[in-house]
Amino acid sequence: KISRYRNFPMVPRVIFGRGSFDQLGEILMPKRRHSEAPFIFLVDDVFEGTPFASRIPLIFNDQVIFVSADEEPKTVQVDALVGRIKREFNELPSGIVGIGGGTLLDLAKAVSICLTNTGSSCDYQGWDLVRKPSVYHVGIPTISGTGAEVSRTTVLLGPEKKLGINSDHTTFDQVILDPDLTKGVSKEQWFYTGMDCFIHCIESLNGTYLNAFSQSYGEKALELCKEVYLGDLSLADSRDKLMMASWHGGMSIAYSQVGIAHAMSYGLSYLLGVKHGIGNCMVFQHLEEFYPKGVALFNQMMQKQKVQLPTGICSDLTDSDYKTMISVSLGMEPLWENALGKSWRDIATWKKLKSIYSRI
Ligand code: NAD
Ligand code: ZN
Repeated sequence: KISRYRNFPMVPRVIFGRGSFDQLGEILMPKRRHSEAPFIFLVDDVFEGTPFASRIPLIFNDQVIFVSADEEPKTVQVDALVGRIKREFNELPSGIVGIGGGTLLDLAKAVSICLTNTGSSCDYQGWDLVRKPSVYHVGIPTISGTGAEVSRTTVLLGPEKKLGINSDHTTFDQVILDPDLTKGVSKEQWFYTGMDCFIHCIESLNGTYLNAFSQSYGEKALELCKEVYLGDLSLADSRDKLMMASWHGGMSIAYSQVGIAHAMSYGLSYLLGVKHGIGNCMVFQHLEEFYPKGVALFNQMMQKQKVQLPTGICSDLTDSDYKTMISVSLGMEPLWENALGKSWRDIATWKKLKSIYSRI
């Protein structure tokens, strides 16, 4: 029997505020099982050697592992990290702390699951395949937009597919939202990752899966995105608001689904390794026939922020490349159904997708 309504987990504890990162040590203390069970900090390597890195509250045999976010997380990378932690310590860690953007947050979630669930992380890509509770894990975003800090998934590129580990054990046990941590983000990256949130809102609010739960979060997140990208906020207020927009945007899609930009961006990512935020933008700009108001707003934001997107990405692709991208994209059935309704196949034709991709 399939339950009609999903009973999904939320992050049980969250702390918000500029400088709140400095409470991390006191938050972790009661979660330390004993001195041999370390905390492992998976940290974006942009912070290696910075003053911020020296604020990580290390004690006993805690370890910091710096990880590059140049490429999106892979199942082999998760398996290697889990293997390394198991080899180096006799005890299971007290917890895993992920510090960085969506890449590091997703790695931390996946590692915490695979420390207690045997086999490869690719065995758990899908829906509700995780059997045992993960180890305690904390998410600390340093860039805002993906909503990975609230979601019950961790998106991984596996040997055969790019797919999330969607489970009740994926969600963080604790999140620290310290907007000051996002200070060093470049203008372009701030735009691309922030637009991921904006696109979550547009796709959720214009989807057929929309309900009052998703709408309430989506509308708030959209309002915050407009303030950040079209208003004239101080930098500090803008960082605060984008962090909350990301949170609400993530909550909005939890109970609905994303749409066409995400479905097509997955194809780009699979074939060309284009990253999530920028890939969504590259597709979304060409979706005016599906999201007219959203695309108009997007163009206004690009103009105001003076951001330009790369062009000609698909100009040299072969027919077989298009075939791969289109079939990966059309494989994301729930996204298409949310966007276009049950008869989505009549609209999202092979020809339609090829014509959109070829403009990127
Ligand atoms: P990211 O983690 O890939 O980081 C983007 C860039 O910003 C990197 O170069 C990183 O080093 C840099 N960066 C991060 N914080 C910084 C800081 N404070 N100062 C300077 N540089 C900083 O970017 P993202 O857009 O947050 O995450 C994308 C990933 O998130 C993708 O792998 C995507 O699949 C995943 N994602 C997951 C979910 C989910 O629900 N789990 C949702 C959306 C996206
Ligand atoms: Zn997204």
